[in-house]
Amino acid sequence: MQYVMIDSHCHLDLIKAPLSTQKVIDDAAQLGVDKILVPGISPSNWQQVELLSRQNESVYYALGCHPMYLSADISSSLRRLELALDNRNERCVAVGECGLDFYKGREDADLQLEYLVKQLKLANQHLLPVILHCRKAHQDLVKVLKANKPIKGGVLHGFTGSYQQAMEYVKLGLKIGVGGSITYPRASKTRQAISQLPLDSLVLETDAPDMPLNGKQGSQNEPKFIKLVLNELILLRNEGEQTVALKVHYNASSVFDFC
Ligand SMILES: [Zn+2]
Repeated sequence: MQYVMIDSHCHLDLIKAPLSTQKVIDDAAQLGVDKILVPGISPSNWQQVELLSRQNESVYYALGCHPMYLSADISSSLRRLELALDNRNERCVAVGECGLDFYKGREDADLQLEYLVKQLKLANQHLLPVILHCRKAHQDLVKVLKANKPIKGGVLHGFTGSYQQAMEYVKLGLKIGVGGSITYPRASKTRQAISQLPLDSLVLETDAPDMPLNGKQGSQNEPKFIKLVLNELILLRNEGEQTVALKVHYNASSVFDFC
């Protein structure tokens, strides 16, 4: 069956030749992807993501500073973010992506934490949900979130980890972004977590052009492959195909105010 699907995390602005952004959007639409949410990563891409949302009916955007692309001039970046949020249009549906990334170590942990806390505050001030990125930092991130609760919720995107770790976010009212990692048999801990979490808490994403699915390593990921993520999710769950497909679509629409 064909279901409507939402790609809740897709970096359309980073798609490179030989693919074109337009082709990628059209191919995804043909397979039933009715909405694509493109996160901001730094002031340098905010105009581009906003433009993509204006040019394509199915595209929405978020504004934020990704922990891997932080400028040391924190006050200037955050002032720009505040200004961009003040001037956003109705297709801006979240703050993000923001978060913590200690994959390469904790050298700039203080900078990352300062950016994160401020973005959580901005999200609450603007009554927007947050899109959260986390690598090697679940404990730290949960601690920050408990002290700065996102009142409009949000998504912990690209989740990998244990059931217990995921439930920490669910208890804070956040959704869990399910992506291509569940297509890898070796990701058994993540697969098990996703099979056990409340269905209410799951949303789909591709993180394209990153995070290729199993069997597609070496090529750019695309939002149309969200259908394969959904198929895998259906296999991991006991609720039946239609229930899973409809519910994850509903979940994403309930976090983000798609106009
Ligand atoms: Zn991302």
